[in-house]
Amino acid sequence: MLDFNKPYLTGKEGHYIYQAVLSGKISGDGMFTKKCHAFFEQRYGFKKCLLTTSCTDALELAALLIDIQQDDEVIMPSFTFVSTANAFVLRGAKIVFCDSRADHPGMDEDQVEALITPRTKAIVPVHYAGVACDMDKIMALADKYGLYVIEDAAQAIDSFYKGKDGVKKPLGGIGHMGAFSFHETKNIMSGEGGMLVVNDEKFINRAEIIREKGTNRSQFFRGEVDKYGWVEMGSSFLPSDIIAAFLYAQLENLDDIQKKRKQIWDAYYVALKPMESKGLFTVPVLPDYATNNAHMFYLVFNNLAERTDVIKKLKDSNIWAVFHYLSLHKSPFYTDKHDGRDLPQTDRYTDCLLRLPMFYELDPTVVIDFFKKL
Ligand SMILES: *Cc1c(COP(=O)(O)O)cnc(C)c1O
Repeated sequence: MLDFNKPYLTGKEGHYIYQAVLSGKISGDGMFTKKCHAFFEQRYGFKKCLLTTSCTDALELAALLIDIQQDDEVIMPSFTFVSTANAFVLRGAKIVFCDSRADHPGMDEDQVEALITPRTKAIVPVHYAGVACDMDKIMALADKYGLYVIEDAAQAIDSFYKGKDGVKKPLGGIGHMGAFSFHETKNIMSGEGGMLVVNDEKFINRAEIIREKGTNRSQFFRGEVDKYGWVEMGSSFLPSDIIAAFLYAQLENLDDIQKKRKQIWDAYYVALKPMESKGLFTVPVLPDYATNNAHMFYLVFNNLAERTDVIKKLKDSNIWAVFHYLSLHKSPFYTDKHDGRDLPQTDRYTDCLLRLPMFYELDPTVVIDFFKKL
């Protein structure tokens, strides 16, 4: 069976973990965590990076930072992972789901303004497949209505948005905060892992505190205060330095990993784009303001039955391809809390989107040959 995903090891992960263990300090914010923070801050110009144990955790940290209260409203796509919503639901927020775009599973920026009410506190755009949402539009709405923007950049490492000013900005670095995932299904991974990027300086101090159980321990270790104590509500969001050691080995190979994934993505695109004319499926559309980080290659079929049929035929050919999110507004947990609006594009991607195998060591030829014969 051809796997859908196979985590790629660069070869140095074990070596760095050994170094971390030998250093005698394997709790959080050790040598490798600092190296990871510096890598991201230098490469992408992020103001403040804080490794977390997952993207889920980074989103929960963000929800605490913007002080989400009972019945605050948060706007996000329905076609996303449960963690995007859970982080805010845990604090009592009501999720207001926005439909996806007709040309792309990302949320339809033009529908957001109509969803804003006096209770709206934040917009959470998800850069699906690492493809940017139209951040100029979202940031303009945030400015106009005084809202926070938390980017769910879980899939968006090394991907960019080119706005009206022509400047290429890294995803995760545009909103007030951005959350990344290093889960083993992502381009760069540490098994489980994540990072909060803080772009608005006013959150930096509290981000460090909330991540460290509500204490000012980070300031203490920098010598900025002579004792540390409990200064606000918090939790433990920081990973062991063993995780950071693993992650650092991956980061050193970021360019190589990205190059390889893009080659695979391009091979799919070149082979499958001409087959669109047969009318069975369409290939991904990249808006001109978005770059491609080759996180995912997907096809969109006409209906559920046709997709189900192709999944079965792929399986018969020993190829494992998978569909993706089930609309959150129709989930068992949220359906009676949703305001009843239909989200037809979300439902269409739930029924019709199929992800093809995508990982560093993949030879896409067998998958391409399958579609040639289909
Ligand atoms: C993977 C993913 C998450 C969750 O990441 P974890 O690191 O597993 O917590 C959240 N949102 C999106 C869009 C994701 O793809």
